Amino acid sequence: MKNTALLSHKRLLSAVCCIAFFLLAPLSSALIPQTFNTVSFEPYHYHTYQELTDELHSLQENYSDIMSLSSIGKTYEGRDLWMVKLSDNVNQEENEPGVLLMGAHHGDERPGIEICLFFIRYMVEQYQNNSLPEVRSAINSTQIYLIPMVNPDGVEADSRKNCAPNHGPFGRSATITSYGVNLNRNYGDPWYLAYIFPVSYNLPFILPDSSFNYRGPYPFSENETKAVKNFAEVHNISLSISYHSYGEFIIYPWMHTTKQTPDEPLFRSVGENISLINHYYLFVKKDHVFQRFGGTLGSSENWLYRARGVISYTIEVGQERRPSDPQVVYDLCMTQTTVHLYLCQRALTIGVEKAALNHS
Ligand SMILES: [Zn+2]
Repeated sequence: MKNTALLSHKRLLSAVCCIAFFLLAPLSSALIPQTFNTVSFEPYHYHTYQELTDELHSLQENYSDIMSLSSIGKTYEGRDLWMVKLSDNVNQEENEPGVLLMGAHHGDERPGIEICLFFIRYMVEQYQNNSLPEVRSAINSTQIYLIPMVNPDGVEADSRKNCAPNHGPFGRSATITSYGVNLNRNYGDPWYLAYIFPVSYNLPFILPDSSFNYRGPYPFSENETKAVKNFAEVHNISLSISYHSYGEFIIYPWMHTTKQTPDEPLFRSVGENISLINHYYLFVKKDHVFQRFGGTLGSSENWLYRARGVISYTIEVGQERRPSDPQVVYDLCMTQTTVHLYLCQRALTIGVEKAALNHS
């Protein structure tokens, strides 16, 4: 019985790989979004919070049939955390798989914002032009959620961390001792492990709140991580990517240990297909990623997977934190657009694949 189940699982995987193959055909350069300025002057101009806000509102007004825009929370400094949804029947929660794309947990890592915004423009324009079956399928059969700027205060301050005041490492000081928490260390899984195995995670028992990796006084202490948590808890999400820069590599849970998750074959299969598209290095489990980077506690991927079962990735895009060449930024955006279309296609089968895997 077990062998039969395994065999059918393998057949399923190879069928999915065939689908993936057709999606790998490069998208024609004639299909660039009309609003993307390909002749902009160097250095490339990254969107400010206000520019992003204005553009999202303008796109939503023009494409309200397939795009909605809402705020899932506010930052300490009062900026909105914008969430875009792309789908047909966009104002209804449908029984369709969800794909979540996020940018700029770290405010000084800007390419992810551009990648998300480019993809939004691309999808709404192409859907209206009725030109690509992959785009129509993605809009009609999945629900795509984007949070292009998770950390707008950090973006405006050009800071890795957010800008909320800290009151000592445990939040107990009466006075403000520093500013900012590393949001990608503030998710709740497995946040407390640092206190149990501080040496294993290269963390001093008490991490100074001024550290660039300060994790906050407790899990989900920050408005931004709380907003993502509240959002993800009430939406069906199958696959997700959180964008960081840089390094041209892909990583997935567990982020804090070399141990594999029960869904390792799925993580690896989707990851390999992403890697075929963007040619980034996929760190598979038992690679030496943790020797190189140290295990990460409190990342969005760990929490999304453990709490919500999301097959979630961090992609470190590009060869520098903030490329200044517009062509480089454009290439990043276009390549990741192909990755997103692949994810939308794969989302259609991932539920069945997961069930087959967990029963094999
Ligand atoms: Zn980052």
